[in-house]
Amino acid sequence: MADLWPNYDNLWQSTLHWRPNQPQETAFAQLYQALLVANQQVNLTRLTTPDDFWEKHLWDSLQGVAPWLVTAADEAGPLKAPLKVIDIGTGGGFPGLPLALVFPHWRVTLIDGTRKKIAAIEAMVQSLGTANVELLADRAEHLGHQLNHREAYDLALIRAVGGVNTCAEYALPLLKRGGQAILYRGQWTPDEEASLTAILPRLGGKLGIVRTMTTPLSGGVRHNVEILKVAPTPDTYPRLPGMPAKQPLEHRHRMPRSQGSWAD
Ligand code: SAM
Repeated sequence: MADLWPNYDNLWQSTLHWRPNQPQETAFAQLYQALLVANQQVNLTRLTTPDDFWEKHLWDSLQGVAPWLVTAADEAGPLKAPLKVIDIGTGGGFPGLPLALVFPHWRVTLIDGTRKKIAAIEAMVQSLGTANVELLADRAEHLGHQLNHREAYDLALIRAVGGVNTCAEYALPLLKRGGQAILYRGQWTPDEEASLTAILPRLGGKLGIVRTMTTPLSGGVRHNVEILKVAPTPDTYPRLPGMPAKQPLEHRHRMPRSQGSWAD
């Protein structure tokens, strides 16, 4: 295994100004093995070569939280806070699982609407012995209305789950005021930015920084779209299951109460 596992110390350093220590490197290799095993039972990923896994799951998951990685490297850093983090639509555990390995002081909740994926991740987490992960088989539209999850998280992460306004509607109800969401995107267009900016005030959000990255092995483009939670989210959001994806919030679109509000 050790000879198969790529050593990309220089790429971590040159792209994220951070590099994993030896125990983290070992945990990454174990995560790769655990994913391969789980993938035989449930289709979690089509990326199974060490390089694909390293770049598109491991590196990509961690690049989204690059500002925190720099803090993590500074042992005396004032921001080493025990954040409550949620990964919405985690699939095979990305981006949340690598973050749980690198930030053991974070409490990372992984949710997915597909129960068998959550069961597969549970087996992975057990084989890794990761203690700071909570797993929930549920939809974001349900979780956003549960008292112990609504406005309970410091950081919400969401990758490859849907359109940008749909992702915002899933994430913002779960965030505390002062918290933030990171939407992991590939391409990012001015139209998407304008549409997101227009609907965010309805959810209690505001657009933050959009960080652009290039994947180190294949040169793909990534955008991390930061959304800041600046006001409470109205109780009508998220709308009923399926609505945020079927009928994403739009600028000037006023939702009649009969079209999917929980208040109906
Ligand atoms: N985030 C992972 C990644 O980037 O590798 C998985 C992405 S996969 C394409 C999308 C996942 O989101 C699926 O596992 C699906 O079950 C989940 N999902 C979609 N809509 C959801 C919702 N409303 N609530 C919870 N999970 C959802």
